[in-house]
Amino acid sequence: MSDKRNVIIIGSGPAGLTAAIYSARANLEPLMLEGEPSSTSDQPGGQLMLTTEVENYPGFPEGIMGPELMLRFREQAARFGTDIRTEKVTRVDLGSRPFGVWVGDPEAPEPTYQAESVIISTGAQSLMLGIARESELIGHGVSTCATCDGFFFRDHDIAVVGGGDSAIEEAIFLTKFARSVTVVHRREELRASKIMQERAFANDKIEFLWNNVVESVDGDGTLEGVTVRNVLTDETQRLPMTGLFVAIGHKPNTDLFKGQLEMEESGYLVTGLGAGATSTNVSGVFACGDVQDHKYRQAVTAAGSGCQAAIDSERWLEGQHS
Ligand code: NAP
Repeated sequence: MSDKRNVIIIGSGPAGLTAAIYSARANLEPLMLEGEPSSTSDQPGGQLMLTTEVENYPGFPEGIMGPELMLRFREQAARFGTDIRTEKVTRVDLGSRPFGVWVGDPEAPEPTYQAESVIISTGAQSLMLGIARESELIGHGVSTCATCDGFFFRDHDIAVVGGGDSAIEEAIFLTKFARSVTVVHRREELRASKIMQERAFANDKIEFLWNNVVESVDGDGTLEGVTVRNVLTDETQRLPMTGLFVAIGHKPNTDLFKGQLEMEESGYLVTGLGAGATSTNVSGVFACGDVQDHKYRQAVTAAGSGCQAAIDSERWLEGQHS
């Protein structure tokens, strides 16, 4: 027999945990499936677990470490009775109600859990270069978020990898702090919009290293150098850099929902399709945080949308029982 719940929240970053706080305080006894620590995409606590200091989350004037902030969110969700389980969802059935949620064997005939309502907050992950020592140096010179970490690079020489709008936007933003910003791009033409390109070309602090890819990063505890390779000549050079911003795109964690929920071509869930801002195309299924937002991607905006999802689901459940 499946274990039946009012609300199941899948994912435990700022969006999911905020949804849990609100759902729990509405006496809905939510179940949160927080993922397992083994993989980046299922990282309990989400992307903030991969950052160091967070200085832009309101309420923490001295700043707070990302993992500590998520621990506090988690404690607050638990305090009001959220049942938090360190389990990875392997399959969902959103085709009929109650919805089915599997953990463990996805082929099991019965879902592990059933839910009247599901809130999806599985987040997104930054695409990474996949080179040695990259993940070890995240938060120690290697970053995927200029808005979060730019401030720490005042007067540093830093690099940004990528040629899209994200990379160029980050490069321009980073010039507020850094002494120099080198954009390392694998081609000799940017993918970014023309207006962003013009701004970047006009900025004295930005240099472009065309036709180059990052081969390796080095440093003793924190980043000290970036080795790049020219893809046309195969020549390599080591650039002394204390910051490397990887901006080669994001991937929303939506594989579980393919074929069941409406998503953009890029995989982001489409929301705002029902009565609430977080409604998906399936009545009773809501999505919040980065899994449905490629524009803002901030902890505070994710938390805000988690609150919206909890309120949307609560109202929807009320409507079902009235
Ligand atoms: P994107 O447009 O997919 O660009 C990714 C960039 O990274 C491309 O230049 C790509 O090179 C490069 N890249 C991909 N994999 C790489 C690898 N393994 N090694 C080196 N370089 C690699 O992603 P995005 O910039 O994150 O933008 C995503 C979407 O959000 C876009 O639609 C964008 O317009 C939008 N966005 C808009 C704004 C804004 O309007 N203010 C800001 C940010 C993002 P190639 O060019 O060679 O493929």
